[in-house]
Amino acid sequence: MKAEIIAVGTELLLGQIVNTNAQFLSKELAAIGVDVYFQTVVGDNANRMKQAIETARSRADIVIFSGGIGPTQDDITKDVLAELLGLNLLMDQRSLDQIEKMFTKRGTVMTENNKRQATIIEGASPLLNETGLALGNAISHEGTHFIILPGPPKELKPMFTNQVLPWLYQHVLAGEMPIYSKMLKFAGIGESMLEDKLKDLITSQTDPTIAPYASEGEVTVRISTKAQSEREAMVKLNELELLIQQRLPEHMYASHDIPIEHVIVEMMADREQTLAAAESCTGGLLMALLTSIPGSGTMLRGGFVCYSNEMKEKLLNVPHHYLEGEDAPGAVSPEVAKVLAEQAQMITDSDYGLSITGVAGPGYSERKEVGLVYIGIAERDKETEVHELKLSGNRETIRIRSAKTILYRLWR
Ligand code: ATP
Ligand code: MG
Repeated sequence: MKAEIIAVGTELLLGQIVNTNAQFLSKELAAIGVDVYFQTVVGDNANRMKQAIETARSRADIVIFSGGIGPTQDDITKDVLAELLGLNLLMDQRSLDQIEKMFTKRGTVMTENNKRQATIIEGASPLLNETGLALGNAISHEGTHFIILPGPPKELKPMFTNQVLPWLYQHVLAGEMPIYSKMLKFAGIGESMLEDKLKDLITSQTDPTIAPYASEGEVTVRISTKAQSEREAMVKLNELELLIQQRLPEHMYASHDIPIEHVIVEMMADREQTLAAAESCTGGLLMALLTSIPGSGTMLRGGFVCYSNEMKEKLLNVPHHYLEGEDAPGAVSPEVAKVLAEQAQMITDSDYGLSITGVAGPGYSERKEVGLVYIGIAERDKETEVHELKLSGNRETIRIRSAKTILYRLWR
């Protein structure tokens, strides 16, 4: 089964918005074993849209549109497809009622334009919009399956998951065994090192398949298999998961798709422990990661952004002679990382105090290399750990990797 994505919108061509819908759809389709061979972007122009559709249907079985189904005059996706297929554009009464109700509730009058959002191509299945007004459409015509989705990602994503997937399994992938996947998450190891450790498995394994991919500071491995039932799939997936985990026991921190900060928040909340941090080069990034997780309120005491030497002294009591002078180890040093972590723990009376101090670049500082980072973990009544990291990448990469690495160390 081959699919093509047509993202509609002049804004995309002008570079004003990024085509994240195509990325989302491609990833989702790959997960169910549908090959995406082309992604097309076309402006809000009927002729060019027709050309794009003709091309897509000549080379794909499934054509998925994103955008151009709103109320305004430039929203023409349904009109263009209906015309090209020689079908009428009708009004879906249920969807129209829903839109009218929405306007009554808001106390405003529905304009004629808004009715356009309730249109449906003759013979198409309506795809309900749980988070917006424009109705999606799915229609099989002369061997090609067309699916029309709204542009806003918060509408497109739930519509795809809740409406399109069942429609595809019923009309297009009927008889095919569904694909089941598991996401294994790794930290403290790069993608290439991980691939190396699993090389023989990756190349020999055809069912389930293994696909690693990296994001900043974390690696995800998706293992997938086709099976008649979820139970049957899980037996195969769990077996492979165990094999992978045995290869990298100290790096695999979860068997579903969650970030390391989430695991840390849950772990500390379970143990009723608290944490605080003093951050230099990450400037609060570690705190931002942790506070993004609901429930961090119980385990997170607070943090210090001590970017300048002066603040390291004033806020966190780092001795002046550590920071300045001929023989001073300097702000980026194990000595300073240790004091920062211990002070963060003591000042906030937390169970753990973390610290990050390093050279994020692009220029070096204190004549130390870009990517040199010290992280400290102070635990109440225990010896403080300090680790030296030599990270590569640009400023942003170094910052995010520093924050993820300290979380990984804490998890271990
Ligand atoms: P609306 O009812 O908002 O007009 P629509 O279905 O007509 O929705 P568009 O008008 O094409 O869709 O886009 C609306 C908004 O959705 C855009 O301003 C943009 O924020 C977002 N959007 C559209 N296409 C994409 C895309 N391919 N990737 C990510 N976001 C998109
Ligand atoms: Mg629009």
